[in-house]
Amino acid sequence: MVVATNLGFPYVGAKRELKKLVESYWSGKIAEADLHKGVQDIQASHWKLQKDAGIEHIPSGEYTLYDRVLDTAQQFGAIPQRYQHIKNPLDQYFAMGRGLQKPATETTPKVDVPAMEMKKWFDTNYHFIVPEFEVDQAFSLQQPRAVEQFKAAKALGIHTRPVLVGPVSFLYLGKPAKTGESFDTLSLLPKVLPLYVELLKQLAEAGADWVQIDEPIMIFDLDANVKLALEKAYKTLKEQSTLKLLVAAYFGRVENNVYAVKDFVDAIHLDFVRAPEELDTILPLIKADQVLSLGLVDGRNIWINNLDKSIGLAEKAVAALGKDRVFIAPSCSLAHSPFSTSFETKIKEINPELFSWLAFSVEKCAEIVVIAKALNEGRDAVKDALAANAAAVESRRTSPQTVNPAVRDRVAKIPTEAWKRASPFPVRRDAQVKKLKLPLFPTTTIGSFPQTKEIRINRQKHNKGELSDADYDAFIKAEMKKVVDFQEKVGLDVLVHGEPERNDMVEHFGHLLHGYDFTQNGWVVSYGSRCVKPPVIFGDVARRGPMTVEEIKYAQSLTSKPMKGMLTGPVTMMKWSFVRDDIPQKEICSQIGLALRDEVVDLEAAGIPCIQVDEPAIREGLPIRRADWDAYLDWSVACFRLATSGIRDDTQIHTHMCYSDFNDIFDAIRDLDADVITIENSKSDEKLLKIFETKQYTNEIGPGLYDIHSPRVPSVEEMKTRFADMLKYIPEHLLWANPDCGLKSRQWPETEAALINLVEVAKYFRAQKAQA
Ligand code: GLN
Ligand code: ZN
Repeated sequence: MVVATNLGFPYVGAKRELKKLVESYWSGKIAEADLHKGVQDIQASHWKLQKDAGIEHIPSGEYTLYDRVLDTAQQFGAIPQRYQHIKNPLDQYFAMGRGLQKPATETTPKVDVPAMEMKKWFDTNYHFIVPEFEVDQAFSLQQPRAVEQFKAAKALGIHTRPVLVGPVSFLYLGKPAKTGESFDTLSLLPKVLPLYVELLKQLAEAGADWVQIDEPIMIFDLDANVKLALEKAYKTLKEQSTLKLLVAAYFGRVENNVYAVKDFVDAIHLDFVRAPEELDTILPLIKADQVLSLGLVDGRNIWINNLDKSIGLAEKAVAALGKDRVFIAPSCSLAHSPFSTSFETKIKEINPELFSWLAFSVEKCAEIVVIAKALNEGRDAVKDALAANAAAVESRRTSPQTVNPAVRDRVAKIPTEAWKRASPFPVRRDAQVKKLKLPLFPTTTIGSFPQTKEIRINRQKHNKGELSDADYDAFIKAEMKKVVDFQEKVGLDVLVHGEPERNDMVEHFGHLLHGYDFTQNGWVVSYGSRCVKPPVIFGDVARRGPMTVEEIKYAQSLTSKPMKGMLTGPVTMMKWSFVRDDIPQKEICSQIGLALRDEVVDLEAAGIPCIQVDEPAIREGLPIRRADWDAYLDWSVACFRLATSGIRDDTQIHTHMCYSDFNDIFDAIRDLDADVITIENSKSDEKLLKIFETKQYTNEIGPGLYDIHSPRVPSVEEMKTRFADMLKYIPEHLLWANPDCGLKSRQWPETEAALINLVEVAKYFRAQKAQA
């Protein structure tokens, strides 16, 4: 029979219970035993929920207190040296994940170890801990979570399918422990494989039959040696284990990487949400004794499945393989989608139609079960569920809430000249120099100023209706005045309003646009215990009216210096949201681009001479496969230009990006054709600047002069050194002086001290040049 399966569940819990537990443990409010007890209760409820939903292969072992890759590192004894003195395994684990600082006591010395590096998990917004390995790394098996969790579920009468991070992904995603050292971490494979064999043996002894081994790296463009490592790993595990092995890849196409494992597994899981086209190529490869696990329900989004379509795909697989060789699954672990729509009482009440289009993890489990049942017993057996689903899919396809003909029409008719500025940069620069009259090395900031407790309290009061619109407005105006006066006093050249009215750079604009809505409980983990609640783009996007003009105009009225309007770019507005999956992203991004274009034009008309459009998400949106990069960069760059080109030559467009490793996409960034770009450069390594030796950046640029992520005040001397370094690479008439990102998480005293120093540095170099 076709089996309903799951690959992973949102471990953080229905109401982020895990977050509360671990944070209480970190702050010393609860003991280790309480934490474990709490976690067991959450796990038990999750297993039961899935069982009651009808999931037959319920995952265990994927439950994590911080990160699954970190779990794997610790369980194999890959503990970097700097954490080895921490003897309690749990404290050591959290120290690796988030660092540990403890003042000295009479009996113990001071502890101050930073966290291990964190990286984005494929193209999700989740971040994993990067394992560190020595060349001669020794591994040993310590308390495997998968065995513990399997037994815990068994004790509750629930038979689960243990999940492991696969050996090749584990090593491949890791890095050498010593900075500057380079060796192939896959060379450690012969050392970890015996531990996997042992782990599988322990699972078999505990009573497991299937085991799920995740090898998501199979969606990368892999070199031959990595494919060989996969082959070797699964050949060994197959030979030396009695368990049935399911190898899972997700988030993209596996292409011919699948050949590396296909002969050594009992089942293979692929993501047919991201790569439905691979079904036809994969079916003939599945041998008579093998199973294909179909990832049909999107594990990364919040929309209902198109059950008719999914069942159609699954029927094709069943026709080719037979019912006993097909599993139904989410595309990837459901840990990447929120818990349940049952908490979305507001959307349900205010917009029941939108509510009917939503499916979070619990609802996705139900979808998986319906698909499996349709295959086993025929569509008739689930006809009510299918009818309800078909009605919701149809309403979503045709609803005026999703389709705004005026917006569609405008996107379809965007004239060619709207995709770029009217004049080339040198012409615009002349006009801007004349109008703005900025000194050499102009100084500016990235937009936000300290979001003080007072600001947050007033915003909350206003949201709750305890502060009237008029009072809140007056408060925000006073904040803006404070920020403007401050910048005048410090002597900055291009001023900002400080963003006091914004809680978040995406959500704030989402509220001002049609097509966006907001969940109450749609949390997903970003890293560790930190969760985000992305806005939802469900319909065609259009402005409700001017979004920022009033604030920026007011801020400009307070000063004779140029004021910089501040907007979030189309790619970032989209990538940091749950995006509708019923039209191409390029189309959504163009819609946002047009809305922003109108705003930019309105700002210019209101007399705002500089407008910054932040695009920190462009780089992280890069597709996983190189072959897909150009298409993505083409439309994402085009949409930025669409947003920023409806204006005169003498209006200066700024953009900002929060990373310095943009070597990969240097050409695309240049193609944005912003007049000024400010970029993060906090590590102050020369990596960023090096690129200017080989590539020319022709427009104006401000690499961050100091790291805003720390309260440390940079001295004038150190910023001078950094600025002098920049001058070696960047022509002086193009160079700006600015911090490396927004200041919202900083306090006022350090902000003031740092910016005073920054202005002094710019003045010093101006004087130098004047003498020369
Ligand atoms: N303008 C935003 C700020 O200053 C930019 C934030 C960001 O780059 N993430 O806060
Ligand atoms: Zn930034």
